[in-house]
Amino acid sequence: MKRIYLDHSASTPILPEVQDLMSDLSKNLYGNPSSIHREGVMAKNLLEEARKSLALLLNASSSQFFFTSGATESNNIFLQSEIRSEKYSHIVTTQIEHPSVLNTINNLAKELKIKIDFLELDSYGRINISELQKILNTNKNSLVSLMYVNNELGTVHPITEIASLCTESNAVFHSDTVQALGLLDINVNELKIDCIIGSAHKFNGPKGVGFIYLKDPSSVKPLIFGGSQERNFRAGTENLVGIVGMVKALELAISQKEERLKKLHLLRDKLIAGLNSLPYPIEFNSPDTLCSPKILNVYLKEGKSTDWLLMNLDIEGISVSGGSACSSGTEKTSHVIEIIRKGFLGRSVRFSLSHLNTLEEIDSTISVFKKLLLV
Ligand code: PMP
Repeated sequence: MKRIYLDHSASTPILPEVQDLMSDLSKNLYGNPSSIHREGVMAKNLLEEARKSLALLLNASSSQFFFTSGATESNNIFLQSEIRSEKYSHIVTTQIEHPSVLNTINNLAKELKIKIDFLELDSYGRINISELQKILNTNKNSLVSLMYVNNELGTVHPITEIASLCTESNAVFHSDTVQALGLLDINVNELKIDCIIGSAHKFNGPKGVGFIYLKDPSSVKPLIFGGSQERNFRAGTENLVGIVGMVKALELAISQKEERLKKLHLLRDKLIAGLNSLPYPIEFNSPDTLCSPKILNVYLKEGKSTDWLLMNLDIEGISVSGGSACSSGTEKTSHVIEIIRKGFLGRSVRFSLSHLNTLEEIDSTISVFKKLLLV
């Protein structure tokens, strides 16, 4: 049975061009970028070329980028350093951030007795920008952390407006941009944002590699100590093969952005139409507008539980999820759905698409979904 993979918010397949480049590199370039012999220098040159290319893609300077093991580490580097600096009287965020942001903020704010303002959210997980403005006007020394695209709902926060408000009130702004990279425009120079982060496996690159961008690298302290890699900012031998693969994958995503978006819209529209045609009461947790075309989160008004559906879809060869992969496997309701659908738990399914999916796969998914819902 050919499987249908619709869980691209959790992870994506590596593209053949990226895989080929990485295989070639891992066979031929084994030097340590910190060594001073020829193999080391070749590795170092490649590492710095990758950094330059990444900086060019996001319109920043290469000295503002550091390579990490992924988004969880990048979020932790920035938030831990900033919150522990004791510069902030309070933190502004939402209850539907990724656990690598939410758990870091919750734990450190508790330890250091810093107030957290959780912004109000509507039933699609959208913030009210005037509430943020009010909070920033009445509080000095704010740290704001709001993701660009919510990984479970697809909801897009207006980060340009948020960044302007933060600049006007001298607040520091961090955004988890993992689900936006490659799909939405990010020009860090124009945005005037203090920190964004990325993870390669979300845009058809390898797992275990990511980056952090810092407007002012000198103000952030390292999280991992050891050797002097990454200009003393992040110790440990760099994952050169992964880094080169990541930058190639992002180059491909950005250069093919328009075609990929077009395809994603086609697939998502077909999925919405198919789900709406089912003789079964459903609603969408994802908003109609200002939503990633990659994500569609569906709420079943009655009947089957998420766990039952996920298991049976899997048996039928279709991979979807109930929420974030980071909290799956625990039989826990998604913390995001818990917030936006208070009292109506347990019946949400997230479809997350890729330009690699086909319209036929969407047709098959709808037929299987219909069969299961009517069992
Ligand atoms: N932030 C968001 C929004 C995510 O979707 C994920 C992955 N689920 C992460 C952070 C963590 O990424 P990584 O796997 O690179 O640690």
